[in-house]
Amino acid sequence: MTEPPDPRPIRRLDEETVRRIAAGEVVDRPSSVVKELVENAVDAGAAEVRVRLEGGGLDTISVDDDGSGIRPEDLPLAIERYATSKLARPEDLDVVVTLGFRGEALAAIGAVSRLRIISRPPGLGEAHGISLVAGQAAGAFVEARAPGTTVEVRDLFFNTPARRKFLHAPAAEQLEIASAIERLYLARPTVGLTLANEHGEMLRLAPSLTLRDACARVLGPEFLAQSFPLRSGLGGTTSFRGLLARPAISRSNAQGLFLAVNGRTVQSRTLVQAVRQAYTDYLPRGRYPVGVVHLEIEPAAVDVNVHPTKREVRIARERAVADALRRAVRDALVATPHVADRLGTSAEPEPMPPPRELSEMGEPEVVGPEPELGRAPPGVQTRLEPPGAAAVIAATGRHPALRLIGPIFDLYWLAESEGSLVLLDQHAASERVLFEQLRAAGRLARQELVAPVRLELGARRAEVLELHADDVRRAGFEVEAFGAGSYRILAVPSYRGRRVRADQLLGFLDEVADGGRPTVPDGIAERTDASIACHAAIRAGDVVSAEEIQRVVEALYALPEASYACPHGRPILIRFPRGRVDRWFLRSPG
Ligand code: ADP
Ligand code: MG
Repeated sequence: MTEPPDPRPIRRLDEETVRRIAAGEVVDRPSSVVKELVENAVDAGAAEVRVRLEGGGLDTISVDDDGSGIRPEDLPLAIERYATSKLARPEDLDVVVTLGFRGEALAAIGAVSRLRIISRPPGLGEAHGISLVAGQAAGAFVEARAPGTTVEVRDLFFNTPARRKFLHAPAAEQLEIASAIERLYLARPTVGLTLANEHGEMLRLAPSLTLRDACARVLGPEFLAQSFPLRSGLGGTTSFRGLLARPAISRSNAQGLFLAVNGRTVQSRTLVQAVRQAYTDYLPRGRYPVGVVHLEIEPAAVDVNVHPTKREVRIARERAVADALRRAVRDALVATPHVADRLGTSAEPEPMPPPRELSEMGEPEVVGPEPELGRAPPGVQTRLEPPGAAAVIAATGRHPALRLIGPIFDLYWLAESEGSLVLLDQHAASERVLFEQLRAAGRLARQELVAPVRLELGARRAEVLELHADDVRRAGFEVEAFGAGSYRILAVPSYRGRRVRADQLLGFLDEVADGGRPTVPDGIAERTDASIACHAAIRAGDVVSAEEIQRVVEALYALPEASYACPHGRPILIRFPRGRVDRWFLRSPG
């Protein structure tokens, strides 16, 4: 490791610079405190940063680094508002090369907590510290420690009860901190980051020299297996680098797409839009690509001073940059064999075990799996053997009979019903049925796997798993820890003989971590149920038999209200009356 640089003197910013700085709240929750403190460590040239939490960060946040330290005489300035070592002249604000530059964070954090800063520049033999309570000086001290800085924040918002009320439960705050650390790491993977709580280490993100290694650590091996590289110079000093997932992996929101501009995590609708546009035709509507994109651009072309938490930046000629990004992603995507091996298929074709007795599992009757002996398990059928003969769904009081003709594109079913041509979306239909059953019965049935499937969840998903253990169980998954981020899936959701692929758990966890399907307007429970239903449903690309679709349509027809939309509002079934079909062929209706 290279030696950290010598500390630079801290100065008060002149009034002109202060006026130009985007004003606003810097810290609103524990994760923003962690973000500011880790950014300070990174700016100080640290190679390793360790974050320790108690009570999800509400009781203690302590950030420890091996960077350049703070000179003892500068300690009082460090906690003063608008005092920074990062801008020497007002013009420097136009060319910011550090993550921080406002001199606000420590003052803002100190004002709402009990703060201690202990720091030893490498040239000094001992560390000097100061402590503050609610912004008031509460002592200075000298300590022994290795070179570097520790900032300790206790009882965050203890003196601002209104703010404290808006915080989530410790487990949820802790999860947000873990996400914040992952984002920081994906933007600057050469700095090692670890996160621990009172129970031990939660995240260890070792310094990595390549984005690929960093992605493997944060996004997991299944992402890596499904990813393609993005590498593109734009002329001048602007360039993109990244790793993006093939369309087989996607999310229902933009949170799986990590953007960094010059090593700073940023949110940018324009850039996210550009990446999404590149995936048009590859992803269904409402789905977002997953991956990491780094944009390197000369610092003078980026204005980092537009948002109080530096979350957004302004990029000169942003349209042109976004256009270039869209083209670069599109080219990389088109060049990649996007019909990737399906995830988890290697673990999949195994004989289907007889389902467990309902009584033994205490499962609700409605969703009990039915024995399906003598039929190949899903996924074993090949495309060369079309599914069995057409099936007929009998008419009900409300619905005319429907004759299934066959599948197209491994997604839609062609059917004929009372003088209409019918197209049915197999995913949407099965999703709706599962959603309704979940609403009615509270959980889905499950089926034990003969050979448990091993899945790497990684630390963050493991946290989500703990936090949402109930939902995971309701969904029908039975999961067992198997050491360091590794888990064994013992049982999966099952629906009338169909077994859900174990790796669907990954997408499900990501979605509940984000609060469930955002497109479902109702409460959190409904959104979670929609996520469960989606991940347990027959998927686009699944090869299913006519009998299976028959059972889905029968269940759909049995629903109390005719619901021809899936839980996120996409249509399930579209009818084309005969007359319309005739017109396509320029026949006058008969
Ligand atoms: P900013 O990062 O915008 O300068 P802060 O309030 O976050 O403002 O920090 C104030 C100053 O304290 C920084 O400019 C830096 O000189 C010093 N400082 C803060 N944290 C560290 C650290 N971990 N290591 C070295 N110096 C630090
Ligand atoms: Mg800072």
